[in-house]
Amino acid sequence: MKQQSFQPPERLLMGPGPSDVSRRVREAAARPTIGHLDPAFIAFMDELKGLLQWVFRTENALTLPVSGPGTAGMEACFANLLEPGDKIVVCRNGAFGQRMLEMSERIGAEVVTVDQEWGRAVDVAQVEAALKANPDARVLAFVQAETSTGARSDGQALAALAREHDCLSIMDCVTALGGIPVEVDAWGVDAAYAGTQKCLSCPPGLSPVTLSERAAERIRDRQVPVQSWFMDFSLVMNYWGSGGQRAYHHTAPVNALYSLHESLLVLKEEGLSASWERHRRIHEKLVAGLEALGLSLLVPADERLPQLNAVRIPEGVDDGAVRGKLLEDHGIEIGAGLGPLAGKVWRIGLMGETCREDKIERLLTALGAMKQSDSWE
Ligand SMILES: *Cc1c(COP(=O)(O)O)cnc(C)c1O
Repeated sequence: MKQQSFQPPERLLMGPGPSDVSRRVREAAARPTIGHLDPAFIAFMDELKGLLQWVFRTENALTLPVSGPGTAGMEACFANLLEPGDKIVVCRNGAFGQRMLEMSERIGAEVVTVDQEWGRAVDVAQVEAALKANPDARVLAFVQAETSTGARSDGQALAALAREHDCLSIMDCVTALGGIPVEVDAWGVDAAYAGTQKCLSCPPGLSPVTLSERAAERIRDRQVPVQSWFMDFSLVMNYWGSGGQRAYHHTAPVNALYSLHESLLVLKEEGLSASWERHRRIHEKLVAGLEALGLSLLVPADERLPQLNAVRIPEGVDDGAVRGKLLEDHGIEIGAGLGPLAGKVWRIGLMGETCREDKIERLLTALGAMKQSDSWE
């Protein structure tokens, strides 16, 4: 049989990521590949780094896109900032907090967990108590925007607690970046990592990361080298560090970086606060529409993320059938529940390009029609 080029179907991506990618951002990736040490590319890298510093609201010199998805940036932060035997306090209020815990354990760190029910924000008072009870803790890790539940935690308060207790903070802002405020310098966050396919509306596969000078110092003071050669920031920086000579570390994903650059330009043209405001406004419209259909949200109103909405599946409604029909009949993807929320919630993402009024109307119309035809029972 003759093999043919793959033609993906038309989809409206309203799940937990990837989100819709605009033609402009997709076309950026189609530009000619050039060498990753070409002077033109080096100049482009400096510009991309400036855009990343802009979006993270930081002046951190150690700001770069890790070549790999959000999980790669996440693992790189843990692998660089933790040494075997270090104590870390991990806030766990969903699937990504759980992933933080597993990564820390693999590194051989001693993990203290602060648990919170899935669907709630991290409890700042409980974290404070854990830090007081563990004065030898060296790192505090938390997820600002828990994509598995739609809960929003207070990054500012948690980063401040870490400083007070002489810990480095690691903040997961994969889903947060672009959708809600992320203030790396103003909050004093030591390590933050993101992803491209959530509110930046760029194809998946890259992870913007930024580290403070305190974090860089911790890496320089390590007793043992980072176990992963690929993820060792002290080596990667020979390529991404500005000013000095760019040395080969690994081949940068040249065309993927064109897309990231373009998506940051799009965001800059809109403005960060305008984007935050758009996410808030469209989220409120979505919630009103869902409530009109008799649906309710999992997370209490004051702890909700605008960009990720966990909706309770009503009694008697067939989770898989509804998601299947949405995809097949309407071309709309929404997300399933994870872990303890499997079969209990749908996750509706309003990230970046997906967060538009006409798109939520398409979803609400489709859900309304399905409810009317009783096809969800
Ligand atoms: C999506 C996500 C990740 C992982 O990103 P991948 O690109 O899927 O590896 C990590 N943390 C949070 C909060 C996420 O939403």
